[in-house]
Amino acid sequence: MIEGTVIKGYGGFYYVKDDQKYVWECKPRGRFKIEKQLILVGDRVQIKTINKKNGVVEKVLPRITELVRPPVANIDCAIVVFALKSPEPNLNLLDRFILLAEAGKTEPVICFNKVDLLSNEEVTPVLDIYDKIGYRTIVTSVKTGAGLEELRAVLKDHISVFAGPSGVGKSSLLNAVQPGLQLKTGEISEKLQRGRHTTRHVELLELDNGGYVVDTPGFSSLYLPQMLKEELAGFFPEMNNFWQNCRFNGCLHNQEPDCAVKSAVESGEINKERYAHYIMFLEEIVFHERRF
Ligand code: GDP
Ligand code: ZN
Repeated sequence: MIEGTVIKGYGGFYYVKDDQKYVWECKPRGRFKIEKQLILVGDRVQIKTINKKNGVVEKVLPRITELVRPPVANIDCAIVVFALKSPEPNLNLLDRFILLAEAGKTEPVICFNKVDLLSNEEVTPVLDIYDKIGYRTIVTSVKTGAGLEELRAVLKDHISVFAGPSGVGKSSLLNAVQPGLQLKTGEISEKLQRGRHTTRHVELLELDNGGYVVDTPGFSSLYLPQMLKEELAGFFPEMNNFWQNCRFNGCLHNQEPDCAVKSAVESGEINKERYAHYIMFLEEIVFHERRF
């Protein structure tokens, strides 16, 4: 039995790369269909080889994470890319991407790109918001090469997905960390557009340093995942130090009196803008609870 990672699924075949980097073309074992067990790109599987090229997927090893859009298993890391300028960063959208990553049990790494377009003084305030919370941030420029080594180090030995709006430099960054990929700029974003209408074939691109990158941007649906309104604050790490001191159990940190989170917002310990986004997301969740 050989173990490997599913890097692509196409036409009923699964392409499994083993630890010697040899790719096997595999069919799933018959009973997978009967049991409706899905094999996802990113899955670690055991295969039985039938000749020098083909094999049968015998077993899917337990999944650590499972992303729905695009459907990929075992993503460790979501590189949430925003441009510092051109386009101007939309922090509401950034916080939404972070929340989607957190809810998917995937570590978000925030990559602020196009740093060449700003002065240091302009970069610091936005960077500080996320550094202070404890998120890992990287500041990059494809133009000057700044931060690219750090980005490579994050991608090493992980399965990562790039997420973020179009035009922020996702394809450019991927090309810069590994020139051999030769993605056209805008290419991964175009895939996203096409993906809405046609069946999408997700693929893992292997980097020289052993990392894999999903060839499609992450979180192609920006709807918030299903969750209870009480769960939302748990995805805002900066609130964790405070909510134990709220007067009410199950405080939503919205209209309730004696809310420690709101006090922390007033004293500046919690960023006001992040809190405003929390309230917007909360209202969105409540709205959906009422409708369904
Ligand atoms: P994507 O839609 O997120 O994949 O973004 P692209 O990689 O297609 O990049 C969008 C545009 O931004 C292209 O014209 C790139 O040349 C440009 N761009 C990407 N990274 C940088 C950067 O670090 N600095 C500057 N000034 N422009 C960049
Ligand atoms: Zn509260």
